[in-house]
Formats: sequence, structure tokens, C-alpha cells
Amino acid sequence: MSKAIYPGSFDPVTYGHLDVIKRSASMFDEVIVGVLSNSAKNPLFSVEERKDMLEEAVKEFDNVSVIAFEGLLIDYMKMNNISVIVRGLRAVTDFEYELQIAQSNRKVSKDTIDTVFLTTGIDYAYLSSSIVREYASYGTDVREFVPDFVARRLQSKYKQ
Ligand code: ADP
Repeated sequence: MSKAIYPGSFDPVTYGHLDVIKRSASMFDEVIVGVLSNSAKNPLFSVEERKDMLEEAVKEFDNVSVIAFEGLLIDYMKMNNISVIVRGLRAVTDFEYELQIAQSNRKVSKDTIDTVFLTTGIDYAYLSSSIVREYASYGTDVREFVPDFVARRLQSKYKQ
């Protein structure tokens, strides 16, 4: 059975992420979306909130689940018998960083873990969680970029 993990911060989930999730769900038997609990990044939403929104957003996919994890991704993967990482590539600016991570993961895992890159859907090439947060912080309608319930969560977050 093919099993892949799609790790990220998802602060918050956007239609760009959902495009990658949808496409990987048709490529693998099981896709696990891994929400990174990385305190260094100082996220807008807590891990629980990000996981909640993702669960709501992926509920139409039978073979997609959402987990939160701390620590090293490849340790989690080894423990759970996952050997493929899915990442999205938007532009060349993503490439250098992603290449470095993919190669080091391969090295550290002794060639047992591989990374699969999905190039972004052209409609979402410009889209990032940080752009969505920026717009939402000024009260701009972001429903073009994220599901409605995420837009509402952003709105109430910035009202606080
Ligand atoms: P990270 O903090 O790990 O970069 P993100 O939540 O920003 O986490 O992104 C998770 C993954 O989704 C990354 O592989 C990123 O390149 C990809 N991604 C983000 N936005 C898009 C998009 N608009 N289209 C395709 N892939 C995307």
C-alpha cells in the first residue's frame, strides 16, 4: 500500500495546499497531512486550530487524514512506515530550499525516504499562507484563496 505524508505549517490551509492534497490523494492509497508544530515560526493559529481547519477542508477525501507532529519528520515517518514526502513547488524560489531538504532527508534516512514534488496548479502559483494572512489582517475578503470557514476564522482572529 502506498502511503505519503504532506508536511507543512498550513497557517492557514489555502486552496494551493488543497490542490496538492487532492492530486496526491489520487496518486497514493493513503495521504497523511502533517501539521508541523514549530514554535520557532510563531504561527498565527495554534497547531490544534490548523489541524481543525485542515480536517474540515479534507473531509471529502476518504484516504486523507490529518495529524500534528513535533520533532523530526523522518523519525515520525519511520515509526509509521511512511516512505514518501509530498511537497508543492510554486516557483524557482521554492526550489533551492526544497532540494536541500529533500537531499538531506534522503541522506539521513539512508536512502529509504524520497520526496515527490507536485508543481503548483497555475491558478495558485502566487498563493501562500503569508499572503492570505497579510490580506486578512487588513480586513480584505480572502474567500478567493481559502475556504469560507477559514476566511471566517481569519476574520475573528484579526478582530481579537
Ligand atoms: P512550510 O512552512 O513547510 O513551507 P507551508 O504550509 O507554507 O509550509 O507549505 C506546505 C507545502 O505546501 C510546501 O511544500 C509548499 O511549497 C506547498 N504550497 C504552499 N502553497 C502552495 C501553492 N499555492 N501551490 C502549491 N503548493 C503550495
